[in-house]
Amino acid sequence: MEDKVLKKFQTVKNEAFKDFESLGHSKKFIDIEYLAAKIAEGNLISLKDFIWHFYNKSILIFSRDFQKQAYNYWSMAVFDFRHEKKERVSKMKELSINARILDFQSKTSTINDYEVVINVSDNSCGVCLADRSKIYEVSKFLTEYTLPHRNCTCKGIGCTCMLSFVPKKNADGSFILNLDD
Ligand SMILES: [Zn+2]
Ligand SMILES: [Zn+2]
Repeated sequence: MEDKVLKKFQTVKNEAFKDFESLGHSKKFIDIEYLAAKIAEGNLISLKDFIWHFYNKSILIFSRDFQKQAYNYWSMAVFDFRHEKKERVSKMKELSINARILDFQSKTSTINDYEVVINVSDNSCGVCLADRSKIYEVSKFLTEYTLPHRNCTCKGIGCTCMLSFVPKKNADGSFILNLDD
């Protein structure tokens, strides 16, 4: 087998395994799953199938942890962008954003005391930048708003805008919500 093929195989594998670990899976668990898949060294297509399968299994393992689901889905978007046909990038980003919202909802009983802020990075396209630091009512955001931005023309992986939930402030700038409660 060509060195180039093997090298590519190893690079994709190492990159994915490192990401699996950063998501919280033990090296032992990853190795067991990998060996069970019986992938021939250098078979890049089988390797990519395994990686996608692992990410999906990981979502099931994190079925009660929306924060980890959010990271997991974002990893899937990046993987699809880097190594597959980029057809699932937008869907995976959307699932990641949804998981972030679910994470917030599951941890907060008083969501109406919060607002949504859109975080947009400096080198984003005009569509994304137009939303920079805008503040949305949570209820309005949940029913009307969609991330990633639909008409985004950012280069590379596209829209990387994120949302964060911030406590509302009173007119004098103090927080309505007592965060110590
Ligand atoms: Zn955007
Ligand atoms: Zn954009």
